[in-house]
Amino acid sequence: MQVIKNNTIFVNVVFAFVLLEDKPKFNSAVFALFLAIILTIWVIIARRHLKFNAAHPKEVYSKLKPVHPKDLEFIKSVLLKTNFFFASLDEINQKKFAVRVMHFIRSKKWVGIRGFQITPENKVQIAASAIMISFGLSSFVLSRFRQIIVSPDSSFIEDEQKFADGLVNKKGYIYLSWQSFEEGFSNSTDGINLGIHEMAHAVDFSGLIFPDRGYILTKMMDSYLEDMKNQLNGFSEEELLRPYSKTDIKEFFAVAVESFFERPVIMKEKTPGLYEFLKEHLKMDTASILRAV
Ligand SMILES: [Zn+2]
Repeated sequence: MQVIKNNTIFVNVVFAFVLLEDKPKFNSAVFALFLAIILTIWVIIARRHLKFNAAHPKEVYSKLKPVHPKDLEFIKSVLLKTNFFFASLDEINQKKFAVRVMHFIRSKKWVGIRGFQITPENKVQIAASAIMISFGLSSFVLSRFRQIIVSPDSSFIEDEQKFADGLVNKKGYIYLSWQSFEEGFSNSTDGINLGIHEMAHAVDFSGLIFPDRGYILTKMMDSYLEDMKNQLNGFSEEELLRPYSKTDIKEFFAVAVESFFERPVIMKEKTPGLYEFLKEHLKMDTASILRAV
């Protein structure tokens, strides 16, 4: 009985098998115990799946609770002033976007640090930076990340032991400096946007677009290098993607997504392989939606 007290599934399974071996004739009590153990394992696996697999139908748009029209109007009024992507959508897609923003807001715990008071407007703007990236995908809540932490400006983050403007931590939170977030959206054509950058990491880590991440990100890099071989015709690499993209492959992806939204026409023209890659995987043609620089 000492074994059962340890209360681990693995030990219980072994224990059940030992009992079965001791008694060659069918023993219904042991069989029931065995079935109970299998059922417990199944429930645990199913719960983990619900919690961590962001692509689960639980997050699918059509299965979510309705949103009050007043909330939709509020979201629209905030985003028409602050989000260039939302402003370029037609009415039907603006409604879809606003509904997704509301569900994203509801699904998170919002925490202001160093005295920052998060307003309803702040929440809408931050949620929108995530919804932009996942807008072409069926799943968008990023359930792996349960908490959004916002500071007035750059803060020291204990988990990373460094000062940061933004980061996505695999413990389940997204951290943003509000000052940098606002700066990102104040210029929508320079290819620098903290909110888009961090949410691109969050979408990437959620496995929404890259089930086989290592392989697909390498393919993305290959298509970009192929673009480089074909020359940028006088256009510098830094003008398209800021040098931080060279840090590693996940930063390359996040920086490329910033440009995919803020400089889609240039990206499509100068690095068509990279543009097509992002268009295919994010299921969105930003160059035609935005028709911007
Ligand atoms: Zn990054």
